[in-house]
Amino acid sequence: MRVAVVGGGWAGLSAAVTAVGLGHDVRLFESAAVLGGRARSVHAPALETDIDNGQHILLGAYTATLALMRDLGLDPARRFVRLPLSVRSADGTLDLRAPPGLPAPLHVAAGLLAARGLSWKEKLSALRAMTVLRRSGWKTPRGATVQEWLSLTLQPPRLRALLWAPLCIATLNTPVEQACAQLFAHVLRDSLGASRRGVSDMLIPRTTLSELWPARVEELARSGAFGQGPHGASSAAAALEIHRSTTIRRLRYTGTGPSMREETGGEGGLCAGMPAGAQRLVLDDRPEAYDAVLLCGNTPSTSRLLATLPAQPGGDAFLDDLRAFEHAPIATLTLELERSFVLPSPMLLLHEDRHRGHFGQWLFQGQDAGRRLLHVVVSDADALLQWERSSAVAGMVEQLREQLRGHAMPAVLQHALIVEKRATFLAVPDLRRPGNRTPWPGVWVAGDWTDTGYPAVLEGAVRSGRDAARAMHASFSGASLGS
Ligand SMILES: Cc1cc2nc3c(=O)[nH]c(=O)nc-3n(C[C@H](O)[C@H](O)[C@H](O)COP(=O)(O)OP(=O)(O)OC[C@H]3O[C@@H](n4cnc5c(N)ncnc54)[C@H](O)[C@@H]3O)c2cc1C
Repeated sequence: MRVAVVGGGWAGLSAAVTAVGLGHDVRLFESAAVLGGRARSVHAPALETDIDNGQHILLGAYTATLALMRDLGLDPARRFVRLPLSVRSADGTLDLRAPPGLPAPLHVAAGLLAARGLSWKEKLSALRAMTVLRRSGWKTPRGATVQEWLSLTLQPPRLRALLWAPLCIATLNTPVEQACAQLFAHVLRDSLGASRRGVSDMLIPRTTLSELWPARVEELARSGAFGQGPHGASSAAAALEIHRSTTIRRLRYTGTGPSMREETGGEGGLCAGMPAGAQRLVLDDRPEAYDAVLLCGNTPSTSRLLATLPAQPGGDAFLDDLRAFEHAPIATLTLELERSFVLPSPMLLLHEDRHRGHFGQWLFQGQDAGRRLLHVVVSDADALLQWERSSAVAGMVEQLREQLRGHAMPAVLQHALIVEKRATFLAVPDLRRPGNRTPWPGVWVAGDWTDTGYPAVLEGAVRSGRDAARAMHASFSGASLGS
C-alpha cells in the first residue's frame, strides 16, 4: 500500500518507520528543512554551532522511544547521559536524590526522607500524597486541577512552591492553577512513583535532537535499507522516501482504492475504516495517489488539512475538538561561557522570581565537548515574552550568578534565546484528545496531542505515531491491533 505521512516530527517519523516496517511504501513530507519538528536542531549563528530548539530530557519510562532507537540500530546507552532521579537546586537549598542500592519505589521514599531543604512535615506530606496516589491506581478526582489536588492532599504552601509547582510547570508546561491533575499523576507514576529504578532515570541527549535518531531514519531511507527486511519489513514494496522543505496544503479524494483482496490476499475486500469503493487520496497537485494518509502535524495544521476534505458525519465535532487546544510557549536561553564550567549536576533547579527577570526554572549542562554551553529553560514563558529580550537575558544571567554562588561562573561571551511559541498544548482538565482514527476514510492522525495518556512529550508523540500506523495497517489488512 502507498502511505503518505505529513509531518517529520517524532510522531511522523515514528509513524513512517512503523508503516515501512509493516511493509508499506511510505512518503514523508516535512515543511522544515530539518527533521525532528519541535524536537529538532537549529543553527545558532551567534554561537556558531547547532543547538536544540529547546533543551529536552527523556525518562527511562520512555520505552517506545528507546525501543524505536534500538530498532534503528542505535544504542540508547551511548546516546544519553543517564541520571538517577534527583531534584537539586543550583543554590544548594534543595537536594533530593534517590540513594543508590535501594529498589523502587523505596529509592524515592528514602530520597525524600533524606532530602535537604524540606522540613519533616513537608517530607511526610509529599510521601502521603504519593502513597494516596499509588493506592488509588494513580487516579485523581475527575476534572481536578493540580492546585485542587494539592489542596485535597493537604500539601503545605512551601512544598508546593519548592517542589510541586516547578515539577508541574516543567512536565506539563501549564501552571498548577490550570494544569490537569490526572496528567500530572501519570507523570508522577512514571518518575517519582516508578516501579523499577531505571524507569525513573532522567536521560539527557548527548547529541543534538535531530542527530539522536531522526538523522538515522533519513540515512536508512536514503540507502534503501528499509526495503531490505532488517526492520521487520514484510514486503518487497516497503520503502521510505523523505521530502523535506515540502508543505502540504490540501488533501482530496480521487479514483477508487485498491481491493484489499489484491493487496493482502484476505477474504473480505476493503475492511474497517475503508468503505467498499473507497477513494485514494491526493496531496496538493502531486501526481501520485495514496491509500492512506497519516497527518502528524500539530492541531492547527491538522485541522486546516482535514478541513480541505469533503464534510463527513462527525467531522465538525472532530475539528471543534482540535480547535479547542490552546498552546503555551517555552523559552531556552543558551549561554556560551568564556571557559569550561562544570555544574555540580547536569540538571539543576533554579528559583524563579519573575519581578526581577529571574525567569530561569532549570539549568542544564550543555553536551558540547568544551563544556562551555549552559542551557536555561523557561516553561510557561508568557511572562518572559512581555520583557525586552536583552533585559530578560540580563535578568537570567544575574539569576545564575546569584544562585550558583560559590561556583564562580565564567563570563558570558555569547547567547542565543529561542522561544517556541506553540511549544506544547495547555494541559488543562477535560480536554478532549482524539485517538488516531478520524471520520475521514483513509486518514489517521498522530501527534503528542492525541489521546496518549501523557502530556505533550516525546514519548507520547512516538507512541501516537506508532499506534496510528498500526491502526492504519490493521484497518486495511483486517488484522487486530497489537499493543
Ligand atoms: C522547548 C521545548 C522543550 C520541550 N521539552 C520536552 C522535554 O524535555 N521532554 C519531552 O518529552 N518533551 C518535551 N517537549 C515536547 C516535545 O518536543 C513534543 O512533545 C514533540 O516534539 C512533539 O512531536 P510531534 O511529532 O507530535 O509534533 P511536532 O514536533 O510539532 O512535529 C510536527 C511536524 O509536522 C510538520 N508539519 C506540520 N504541518 C505540515 C504540513 N502541512 N506539511 C508538512 N509538514 C507539516 C511540522 O513542520 C513539524 O515538523 C518540549 C517541547 C519544546 C518546544
